[in-house]
Amino acid sequence: MRSVEAFRGDLQRETTEWRRYLHENPELDYLLHNTAKFVTEKLASFGINHIETGIAETGIVALIQGEGGDGPTIGLRADMDALPIIEASSKPWSSKIPGKMHACGHDGHTAMLLGAAKYLASTRKFKGSVALIFQPAEEVELPSGALRMVQEGIMDRFGISQVFGMHNQPGMEIGKFGICDGPIMGSQDDFDIVVKGRGGHAASPHRTIDPVVIAAQIIVGLQTLVSRKTDPRESLVISVTKLNAARAYNIIPDQVEIAGTVRTLASGLQDFAEREISAAAEGIARGFRADIEFTYRRSVPVTVNHTEGTNLAVKAARNLVGPASVDDKLKVSLGAEDFSYMLEARPGAFIFLGNGATASVHHPAYDFNDEALPYGIGYWVNLVETVLGTRSVGELEWGDVK
Ligand SMILES: [Zn+2]
Ligand SMILES: [Zn+2]
Repeated sequence: MRSVEAFRGDLQRETTEWRRYLHENPELDYLLHNTAKFVTEKLASFGINHIETGIAETGIVALIQGEGGDGPTIGLRADMDALPIIEASSKPWSSKIPGKMHACGHDGHTAMLLGAAKYLASTRKFKGSVALIFQPAEEVELPSGALRMVQEGIMDRFGISQVFGMHNQPGMEIGKFGICDGPIMGSQDDFDIVVKGRGGHAASPHRTIDPVVIAAQIIVGLQTLVSRKTDPRESLVISVTKLNAARAYNIIPDQVEIAGTVRTLASGLQDFAEREISAAAEGIARGFRADIEFTYRRSVPVTVNHTEGTNLAVKAARNLVGPASVDDKLKVSLGAEDFSYMLEARPGAFIFLGNGATASVHHPAYDFNDEALPYGIGYWVNLVETVLGTRSVGELEWGDVK
């Protein structure tokens, strides 16, 4: 087992350079051509010769074989895409591309997995193989990059038996990790309701079926689905976020569009939300003799950590930073993460890594904290040497630090 000191020095300097280069050159969605080229060239320069590019357009999977003999293959995943945000971090390595910014730290995730790749390719002290998964389009609506990579068959093609992911966490101290067994991040569904009434002059409301008033009743009605109809021990969020009506003072429009998002930690509650939002909207509209059109889209499922994967992740992180710096009962977040698709395909776990007191992710002033790099790299290396250890996992205890 290796302490964080093993990942400082030249490796930290080099990965910091890579991270800042990626930060200056953000790309969006599936259009990560420069980023994918950068990653591929680096992987090849580490002596990794099994590299497959062009998966889900710009995704990459590379295999490193250990020198410890036969064994399973585990997948380590980093996302590579940026966000359509104008950067305001005022760092010297700020985005050179106006309107695009690495505001979720995927530049750091990519640099950490590259750092681990370089280290593992030179040491190879594990059995089996490591599949390095570099994913595009984490931030997009369906179908996102993780789903497409799974659909394009990476789990079977590379024989991946377990899969692991990591995300930086602003507000958590550098050198700390957080994880929990079971659901760790929420699902994300989106809905649209079109209220169809009958428009007319605003001075003659009695000749119309006013969809603005009906929409207002629907929005209020939806507030009771969580407060009155959901088991208080369960987590469900229903937020109306968009509203589109007429643009004039004196017109009652024909229709009003309402849209919103649903977050939860249990797939049963997604069914509940879909059914009940539709029923509430329809019932209210019918009372006013209006109609509705309802659409419900499931965007990202709940991210559910598996027990064995969680235990392995906790052990690897504790081997790196000691037991006190790993919170294995982290409070879940209702944000969504498309790594959930990989955890639906294979068992494994998703962990959070402290990013220190930075702005929150998706904020224009956010920047990945380079001090976190050796911790992220060290976690990946310890995880590989724990899961694919040439000794049985039970023999490896914290304190077994070289
Ligand atoms: Zn994000
Ligand atoms: Zn992210």
